[in-house]
Amino acid sequence: MGEKPNASMVEEILSVYPEKAKKLRAKHIVVKEEGSTCAIKSNIKCIPGLMTARGCAYAGAKGVVWGPLRDMIHISHGPVGCGYYSWGGRRNLTSGKLGVETFSLMQFTSDFSEGDIVYGGDKKLAKVLKEAKELFPTVQGFSICSECPVGLIGDDIESVARNMTKELELPIVPVRCEGFRGISQSLGHHIANDAVRDHLLGKRERPEEVGPYDVSLIGDYNIGGDVWASKKILEEMGLRVRNVWTGDGTTEGMMAAHQVKLNLIHCYRSMNYICRHMEETYGIPWLEFNFFGPSKIKESIRKIAAQFDETIQQKGEEVIAKYDPLMQKVLDQYRPRLEGKRVMLYVGGLRPRHTIGAYEDLGMEVVGTGYEFAHKDDYDRTFPQMKEGTVIYDDATEHELDEFVNRIRPDLVGSGIKEKYVFEKMGVPFRQMHSWDYSGPYHGYDGFPIFARDMDMAINSPARGLTQAPWKKDKEVR
Ligand code: SF4
Repeated sequence: MGEKPNASMVEEILSVYPEKAKKLRAKHIVVKEEGSTCAIKSNIKCIPGLMTARGCAYAGAKGVVWGPLRDMIHISHGPVGCGYYSWGGRRNLTSGKLGVETFSLMQFTSDFSEGDIVYGGDKKLAKVLKEAKELFPTVQGFSICSECPVGLIGDDIESVARNMTKELELPIVPVRCEGFRGISQSLGHHIANDAVRDHLLGKRERPEEVGPYDVSLIGDYNIGGDVWASKKILEEMGLRVRNVWTGDGTTEGMMAAHQVKLNLIHCYRSMNYICRHMEETYGIPWLEFNFFGPSKIKESIRKIAAQFDETIQQKGEEVIAKYDPLMQKVLDQYRPRLEGKRVMLYVGGLRPRHTIGAYEDLGMEVVGTGYEFAHKDDYDRTFPQMKEGTVIYDDATEHELDEFVNRIRPDLVGSGIKEKYVFEKMGVPFRQMHSWDYSGPYHGYDGFPIFARDMDMAINSPARGLTQAPWKKDKEVR
């Protein structure tokens, strides 16, 4: 059992930094105590050289929002690196035949060379668009995801997109998501949302009337099939999911997304912008929900059903009644193996709070959590969920994470690939909470049994008892 987080622990951990960095970082870490408020600094640029886990606006726009749209080609516009490193790295699954109905798993880049920096890349971009349309005639549209140099050399991708939209008769969306903009992935989400608003949304009308139960599923990127698990619940409730933003989503779905009755948003951080816009412009209300773990799913089903008539409310109760016994079975199997285990999380902009309920369903306790790129409104939603004595960290550096984990010694850490092997070597069980460690889905009733199994597998693996050589174990030292 490790130490309990407190203010002096935080001070000690930060003491290795130069004075200025120490002062700045202190504002990003809070230990929840009686009467303490959520006064944590967030959405501020990181301090150079401290090994942030953050990414850039391109990662937020291309990697998160645009990339999962399956029937568009997303061009990584600039040198080869950003597209190459983000190629297939995020597990946003799509349906359809690769290269015909879905292009998400492919990497398209304009592969800038020095000449493009000197003379500009606009001509090359037009050529790339034409070539891609020729080679993949079934493509439904393009996004042009700008990498750093594009904004610096003064290229006019908007005008290329305008001209090529006419020539190719396809929506072509310029996205100004150069990595130097903003301070994390977060601005990339916002830029991507605005690009959807300006270039896709409302541009197509479906022939049929909007049905009373038509909804959009917003901010679910189908990691390991999450969208499919969530959609299943909504459809069993009697709702009609007209489109998903953007996991396994389609261009047409995005264009006609103004024709629904309600927007259901899972990832608030990445898509609240477009929900607010649709509310202001089309009067579509939106609702946050949480499909991690049976308690939150049940709560969410009732919250969603309450927006509709008795038919849906009745069906919602039927869905709960159908899955309750199945969930109980999962709890009976895994809860005794996980009860009382302590977890520390460090993820992006939603899961550090949204997965807490699922851990608690299994009798586990989240003793530390934090976000790479959350804003104040995310922390406002997180703070009330945390118990006293929990440590909350914003844009944590690798040094801080190492120290926290080493001192608190949780039974499980849930974070990203950059953290995984550090903690595995420290002997602390680890689950990737971005990629689901190549497992999933974790959303919905289909996801929870997998989530429970995976956490059990990590914590109770027999390998855990073998991390120290027998001759180094205290009791065996003679
Ligand atoms: S910061 Fe710039 S160069 Fe780096 S990944 Fe982002 S867009 Fe690419």
